[in-house]
Amino acid sequence: MFKGIAASSGVAISKVYKLERPVLVVNPNFSDLETELKIFSESIEKTKVDIEKVKSKAVGRLSDDELAIFDAHLMVASDPEFIGQIEEQIRNGFSVSTAVENVKSMFVGMFEAMEDEYFRERAADIKDVTYRLLAHTLNVKIPDLSLIDEEVIIVAHDLTPSDTAQLDRQYVKGFATEIGGRTSHSAIMARSLEIPAVVGIKGVLENTNNDDVIILDALTGDVLINPENETIDLYRKKEVEYAEYRESLKQLISAESVTVDGHRVEIAGNIGNAKDVVAVLENGGDGVGLYRTEFLYMDATSLPSEEDQYNAYKAVLEAMGDKLVVIRTLDIGGDKELSYLKFPHELNPFLGYRALRLCLDRPDIFRTQLRALLRASVHGKLAIMFPMVATVNEFRAAKALLEDERKNLTEEGIAVSDQLQVGIMIEIPAAAVNARNLAKEADFFSIGTNDLIQYTMAADRMNQQVSYLYQPYNPSILSLIKMAIDGAHAEGKWCGMCGEMAGEELAVPVLLGLGLDEFSMSATSILAARKMVRSLNYQEMKDMANRALECGTQEEVLDIINGALSK
Ligand code: PEP
Ligand code: MG
Repeated sequence: MFKGIAASSGVAISKVYKLERPVLVVNPNFSDLETELKIFSESIEKTKVDIEKVKSKAVGRLSDDELAIFDAHLMVASDPEFIGQIEEQIRNGFSVSTAVENVKSMFVGMFEAMEDEYFRERAADIKDVTYRLLAHTLNVKIPDLSLIDEEVIIVAHDLTPSDTAQLDRQYVKGFATEIGGRTSHSAIMARSLEIPAVVGIKGVLENTNNDDVIILDALTGDVLINPENETIDLYRKKEVEYAEYRESLKQLISAESVTVDGHRVEIAGNIGNAKDVVAVLENGGDGVGLYRTEFLYMDATSLPSEEDQYNAYKAVLEAMGDKLVVIRTLDIGGDKELSYLKFPHELNPFLGYRALRLCLDRPDIFRTQLRALLRASVHGKLAIMFPMVATVNEFRAAKALLEDERKNLTEEGIAVSDQLQVGIMIEIPAAAVNARNLAKEADFFSIGTNDLIQYTMAADRMNQQVSYLYQPYNPSILSLIKMAIDGAHAEGKWCGMCGEMAGEELAVPVLLGLGLDEFSMSATSILAARKMVRSLNYQEMKDMANRALECGTQEEVLDIINGALSK
């Protein structure tokens, strides 16, 4: 049995689909001209068929803009210049795979050197198409997640957020990866897709084969390969019980998030795209506490236009009606990259050029998003939130740009809501410590524990070896959370949390006791959190939280929480 981190709850039993991207090595041997040309023309045809297939699978799941990428790929595969150059190299005696590789390098180099962003994106298209093409010339099979059309559990070293975006829930019953943690973005996506996932399982890849039977217990983190029939029966039972438990939570969909002694909080959902709003509503969310807009940028092939963004934000605001929607401005960098935007190479990307830092440095990108948000503000109850604020000056600079765009829109005769709230994420310890001063200028806070914990403990959230330091219940983290909440309250502002800690059932009692006003989490966690809130006494939790703050270790804090719950 393997043990990993349960990253997205559920139990799944299915056969293994190993996601391994083979490294393609060119074969320099030239057989004869006719054969090499024939392999080439057949490979081009197979490549086109692949692209068509992937595209037809994606229709209905991806937007028209996202689908357009496949047309761009088909254009490359049919481009006479591209094909002609490869054929010429073959005629000059290069093997088919060498010719493909040479022409790829030539085109990619040429496009990457271009000033125009549009042409630079074409380099990514050429790389994509030639990877497929080269694989066909070498007769190597490459995996394609969007082509999966039978029930499987994916086993991989890691899944990128865009891999996760391709997964079709109908067939992909779960995934197991060697690396990652509860807060890695593929785990977060898995929760929003409601696919059970266990991550950080050392050795799982080399110990599984395609079509092995695998059990994924994403409640405990246990993973079993080729189990006995009795074990399968046991887990089938667990799968059914879990489904029943989920079903029983549904009676709380319209219930209030209120404690037994009448203290009310908000329990909202985190979303990664406009479609996720459906799950928040289905799970009775009191609002959207975090819309991670970077996925809008990551799923595109170029910077999304003001219009595209406006439409996405408007859709979410309209769907949520009079419920608050907190939209976070672009938080790119760290483990989230954009294929079409060059990032400087950094030794410590999580401590570097990311989120608000990048946006303040690239007002061209930032202003487009701010305009889209301001325009969308009239369609619902909007709050704009800036990520990775470290200083009051950064917040002022961001607000100044926002105000400038508000003025521009007003001059253009475009309406902007006057109810708009503007807040910040507290995810850098400096911001928590300076919360009182930040609260004087912000309408609200939302604590981002995924980053706050990594920065406080100086432990990379993606690094397995230091994952023992990812300690949400460490008294130092609780103290910073308290500083943020108290700072906000002292200035009459509200304080929420949108980091993964907010959705942990065990964290709810202590966060409630510390005075947190809003809990925002994956949609699938909302009802369990509401059930927990409704079982608690606020006054008792306040006392419990005070005792937790006196503790020296995370273990002592957990003992106090468990003690309070077992009463
Ligand atoms: C966080 O840091 O807690 C957070 C919610 O943001 P992200 O996980 O997107 O960095
Ligand atoms: Mg963060």
